This record gives sequence, C-alpha cells and structure tokens, in this order.
Amino acid sequence: MANAADYFSDEQQLLLKNAIARAEKHTSGEIRIFIDSKVKSEIIDRAAEVFENLKMHETKLHNGVLIYVAIENRQFAIIGDSGIHQYVSQGFWDKVKEEMIPFFKRKDYTGGLLHAIEETGQKLKMYFPVAKNDSDELSNEVVFGD
Ligand code: CA
Ligand code: CA
Repeated sequence: MANAADYFSDEQQLLLKNAIARAEKHTSGEIRIFIDSKVKSEIIDRAAEVFENLKMHETKLHNGVLIYVAIENRQFAIIGDSGIHQYVSQGFWDKVKEEMIPFFKRKDYTGGLLHAIEETGQKLKMYFPVAKNDSDELSNEVVFGD
C-alpha cells in the first residue's frame, strides 16, 4: 500500500507549503493540510482527531483551519476552529469541498488543495486580517499520516 506522501512530489509539497505561507500573509488565520492514505473511521472523527493532535485549537484567535484528506478514499473534510464559526457557515466549506472534487477526479490532488488554500485564505482575510505582529503559529508544512 502506498504511503500518503508518495502521492506528492517534493516540488508539489513545496508548492502547497508556499501557497499556505502566501495566504497567511494576508490573514492571521492558520491553514494546515494533513493527508492520510486511507481513513479507517468516519472521516469527520479522524479529521477532529488530527485537529487535536496538531494542537490546532491553540491559536490565539481560534482561527485555525484544517484541510484533511484521505487520498485513497478520495474524501476530505475541512474543519475550522471556534473563532471561525461565527463568520463562516458550513455552506462555504461544503462549496470548497465541491470545487475540489473535479481536481481529485483527475488525480490532480495538488491542484485541488491549492484551490482550497486559495479560497480559504480569501475568506479568512475578510474576517481575520493579518496584524503587524503576526507570527506563524502553526507550521505551513503539509503533514502526512500513514
Ligand atoms: Ca499567523
Ligand atoms: Ca502557518
């Protein structure tokens, strides 16, 4: 069975990392990507577990967003922390997920994720503009499960 990281070349991983850094230049929100090859439980439970493990609930403004992908299941979940719920409806995340599907169908996983990062960044920027003293609270590296 393939490892989750095998689906992304070094260049693609760098592209994703750079896209997150670019989005975070305009927002205090923190975006992270986590990729499993296969999900063994309900995707939303696994995504919540990853959110917890990555300590994504510890940002100052509670504005972390996790894009979770189970690549062989072609499933993904997007979770925002509590600070985001007051502004962004579930409908928005559903729309982003819908838009990722065609990319995933043609196995353009990087393209789909770049799109999601871009959309998420635009949205976060509206409600959580970047402050002068912004720090990178959560690493921009893509994280791989097994
Ligand atoms: Ca930040
Ligand atoms: Ca970050």
